[in-house]
Amino acid sequence: MKKRYFLPDVECIDREELARMQTEKLKKQVRHVYEAVPFYRRKMDDAGVVPDDIRTLGDIVKLPFLSKADLRDAYPFGLLGAPLADCVRIQSTSGTTGKRVVAFYTQKDIDLWEECCARALTAAGVSREDVIQVSYGYGLFTGGAGLHGGAHKVGALTLPMSSGNTERQINFMMDLGATVLCCTPSYAAYLGEALREHGYEPEDIPLKAGIFGAEPWSETMRREIEQALGIKAYDIYGLTEISGPGVAFECAEQNGMHLCCDHFLAEVIDPDSGRVLPPGERGELVLTCLDKEAFPLLRYRTRDITVLDPSPCPCGRTHLRMRRPMGRTDDMLIIRGVNVFPSQIETVLLEMGYPPHYRIVVDRVNHTDTLDVDVEMTAGMFSDRIKDLTEREAALTRALRDMLGITAKVHLVAPKSVERSEGKAVRVIDRRKLV
Ligand code: ADP
Ligand code: ZN
Repeated sequence: MKKRYFLPDVECIDREELARMQTEKLKKQVRHVYEAVPFYRRKMDDAGVVPDDIRTLGDIVKLPFLSKADLRDAYPFGLLGAPLADCVRIQSTSGTTGKRVVAFYTQKDIDLWEECCARALTAAGVSREDVIQVSYGYGLFTGGAGLHGGAHKVGALTLPMSSGNTERQINFMMDLGATVLCCTPSYAAYLGEALREHGYEPEDIPLKAGIFGAEPWSETMRREIEQALGIKAYDIYGLTEISGPGVAFECAEQNGMHLCCDHFLAEVIDPDSGRVLPPGERGELVLTCLDKEAFPLLRYRTRDITVLDPSPCPCGRTHLRMRRPMGRTDDMLIIRGVNVFPSQIETVLLEMGYPPHYRIVVDRVNHTDTLDVDVEMTAGMFSDRIKDLTEREAALTRALRDMLGITAKVHLVAPKSVERSEGKAVRVIDRRKLV
């Protein structure tokens, strides 16, 4: 693929120059936040740090962390860094893990965010010649708005489909010749399945690329989606609190996501001790907004688990990469004292040839945690003899035990019996929380 950059001067900037730019922006932002946001000033006062203490990038460790609980305490206006009259938009988290958080944007914040999405699209080979089907939800969720704005900045023809109504998605895709699809990976997998049922082979589908994110997905899932739709599938990461999708995105290498380092500073910490970890070590991603005006979060604990990779990328971008998040600290299930991430279960299922439709049910019976996994079969498996099915279940149970270190009860279920998702898939039902 020909190398394309949305902003080569920024995306391929010399690393030392980038560090100088980040330092200047950090100093300015900390001073601004200290003066404009009483909530944050109190936190800094409690930590005994003043803006003058921040002189180098390394000094960032002196600043207190900001957590999702802080955002909820400050709800709705407590973290505003700009006058409300200067704000032009709010967006809200999907509430995947609790009460929603609202974020504010000035016009400059919107431009910055859409520019990040434009970088992501361009890195995936998208240009003004393309037709982009945006099938992320529109509205409060950032997926639709972000990619929509990015698509406009690139100058492509944008189909603002939003999520759902799969029939209409397919009709528009085929009639208008959509070349790029933006949605969650679980919805992309579902669309692939629906297209096949409509009799379309991958080579009949006009798509060439997909920009998928907003939930964890595995490398195996990527390959399945690529085959089903006949495309290249690129990962995109972001969160409402920091802006939305586009905080990090994959380039043609498809090997980690470049963070937009001119706008955001990234650290990885040990989630228990809060200690900053060296590059290459796995931990919780912490992000600092260097340019945001309305919602300028400093050292925000994302709870997403990842690894930072500073090695040079053949694409020429100098911005550091992050590995695909394997889940978040709060997705992690502790079952009989063992840490289990749903993404580990998904990896085993897909590697053993099952479709990405499954449900994880955790419960507590007689004071003992139970783990049940309902796994959908393909039509081919479904017609197997009972004996084969029993063997399949046993093999899956063994593979899950090897991966997780605990035993799960596996139930193979009929094709189409696990509910499909149009946005972020809800795959875990933890009944223990209800008691
Ligand atoms: P919520 O936290 O309610 O889901 P958002 O809609 O803002 O709120 O979603 C942001 C979260 O989605 C991130 O913190 C992360 O956990 C997840 N996410 C976003 N993109 C990706 C991705 N590419 N891979 C894995 N997880 C992702
Ligand atoms: Zn790259």
